[in-house]
Amino acid sequence: MNQTSWIVAVGDEVLSGHTLDTNSNWLAAQLRETPYPAARIVVVPDSHDEIGAVLGEGQRQGIARIFCCGGLGPTPDDRTVAALGSFLSVPLIEDPGTLARVRGRVRRMYDEGRIPSPEPNSGNLKMALIPAGALVLRNPVGMAPPLAIPLPGNPPDRWLLVLPGVPRELRAAIEEEVVPVFCKGASATLYEEEHYSGVPESQFYPVLMRLAEEHPEVRFGSYPQGQPGEVIIRACSGDRDSLGRAMRALREQSPIIPS
Ligand code: ATP
Ligand code: MG
Repeated sequence: MNQTSWIVAVGDEVLSGHTLDTNSNWLAAQLRETPYPAARIVVVPDSHDEIGAVLGEGQRQGIARIFCCGGLGPTPDDRTVAALGSFLSVPLIEDPGTLARVRGRVRRMYDEGRIPSPEPNSGNLKMALIPAGALVLRNPVGMAPPLAIPLPGNPPDRWLLVLPGVPRELRAAIEEEVVPVFCKGASATLYEEEHYSGVPESQFYPVLMRLAEEHPEVRFGSYPQGQPGEVIIRACSGDRDSLGRAMRALREQSPIIPS
């Protein structure tokens, strides 16, 4: 089974450069600590067909966790839920619990003088529509319900996890419920790194070539930082001993002392 995640960020505003996709970056860092590290981050527009196409591709590849983030809101440009219904070939149904929550929040907003009517409008009501078969998760800080949808077919235990685009809503749902329930367990991959300064990264070419040959079970990467000559060499592996041996070899063979 393909024990990885895909992160699908939905939003015209990300593609146009109006919004920086901090959601995917933050989520990928969370997933690094779980058994489902991100294997792909994709940004798609608020388009029914494009959302369906990327989910279909993830489904064909048997991806264990697909995160679909954004486009759950109360305006007509939020199309994620409709796209999910088509992708899964299920109707959208009104979820009574979500409807009650939406009504409660609308009533509170009215009481605070923020909206002119205590009754939900069509946009608010749209948020209580969910694809049949989806589990509704908690959104402790907003209105749009996060969803967990079992992906049909084989292999089993695969989930489509649907999250609001507003960063604080996404983070709360991920931390409180999504990771603890749907991404349980420890990461199979360990990371270690060394920091260097005053050295162009090309100087690491020979040592990194040698390390790749001598420690094939460890994956090395070189990451130049903001200041010229500042480099992080980072290694990862599923085996703690191999990682330790490879990092010792890096320190011994590197022509430069770590900073
Ligand atoms: P809501 O229900 O609150 O409308 P939503 O799920 O519809 O949420 P979006 O409409 O996609 O979310 O985005 C709401 C806001 O969240 C955007 O205006 C933007 O500021 C922010 N946002 C959306 N996507 C991202 C992202 N990938 N990274 C960071 N911020 C984002
Ligand atoms: Mg959006």
